[in-house]
Amino acid sequence: MNLSRIKNEFTARYETDPRVFRAPGRINLIGEHTDYNEGFVLPAAIDFATYVAGATRDDRLIRVSSLNLDHELAFDLDDESIQADTWAKYVQGVALILERKGFRLRGADLLIDSDVPFGAGLSSSAALEISTAFALASLSGHKVDGMEMAKIGQAAEHEFAGVRSGIMDQFVSVHGQTGHALLLDCRSFEWSPVSVSHANFIICNTKAKHNLAESEYNKRRAECEDAADFFGRTSLRDVTFDEFEARSAEMPEIPRMRARHVITENSRVLEAVKSLRSGDLTSLGSLMNESHESLRSDFEVSCRELDLMAELARQQKGVLGARMMGGGFGGCTINLLDDGDHRQFVEKMTENYHRATGIVPDIYECEISGGVCEVMSVND
Ligand code: ADP
Ligand code: MG
Repeated sequence: MNLSRIKNEFTARYETDPRVFRAPGRINLIGEHTDYNEGFVLPAAIDFATYVAGATRDDRLIRVSSLNLDHELAFDLDDESIQADTWAKYVQGVALILERKGFRLRGADLLIDSDVPFGAGLSSSAALEISTAFALASLSGHKVDGMEMAKIGQAAEHEFAGVRSGIMDQFVSVHGQTGHALLLDCRSFEWSPVSVSHANFIICNTKAKHNLAESEYNKRRAECEDAADFFGRTSLRDVTFDEFEARSAEMPEIPRMRARHVITENSRVLEAVKSLRSGDLTSLGSLMNESHESLRSDFEVSCRELDLMAELARQQKGVLGARMMGGGFGGCTINLLDDGDHRQFVEKMTENYHRATGIVPDIYECEISGGVCEVMSVND
């Protein structure tokens, strides 16, 4: 990302020097559909990020434009009724929720630029929420606790964007650490960094997006609740594999399959952390392959393109594991590679996926980066 571009563009538009803030997108190594079951996830922030240049105003107006989309939008902080029906809803959402939590904001001019691809499963929405929430709070002189900031972003996603997602994306966009994935317990919100500096992750975007994603997501949440009910628990987090095995024959098929995915996926996350800590990337790769299989056959959230992309990757030299990443029904796969030259992987995947589907995939080599921060103050 070219920082002088956003700074110069801001100065040209608003005739003042901005402060610039950055919040990253993310990958998730393993732990899919576990967050809303109060289980474990293992995300990492990446070097694709959203930047916000901003300066305060003397009134209560927020003017915001994005270099990724062409129009400028404005809303008044005292006018809760304006429900911006565009991308600005994320910005308006975090602004109004910050205020509701007692962080009185000054008006501001904001300019956004991002290299996180939209809608690809790298969470451009969380990067936008967290970068603007951090910018607005900082410009008004507030320091917001990290977990509270993540919850403000999540609340904006729920209330203003209408997506009932878990806390993972906003959490890692806030707390990300260079060279580390973060093991997060989605019940207690306790977390710890896990070094991944010895691992190489490459993301393959299938560019497929099936309409099912939203309705099936809500359906899976309900099916998991039914499965937890069967065991007399509030969430599947509390059901051990032994307990599951002892009673699985009595369960109807669908809750049985959903429960098996969540219960085994939670233990795979904890195993993956052990593998990373002991430097055993081969076993991390196997866990990723098993995660894909479980998401495909038990949780039924994969699709033809994701299965194909994972399968093509496993045929390549130097690939230790491959799985679908995110909610499913399209989006990206995450691939664990050894230390060799990755150009051949990129070429072969592009060629083979294109031959099979007619689609040229996007392939991203990710560096694991830090969480939200200020990258340029006015005097820089
Ligand atoms: P994902 O989070 O997986 O990238 P979402 O559908 O949740 O996909 O969020 C993508 C939406 O977020 C975009 O369609 C747009 O409305 C908004 N968005 C994200 N980043 C930006 C940005 N830099 N500028 C404007 N809008 C953005
Ligand atoms: Mg999103």
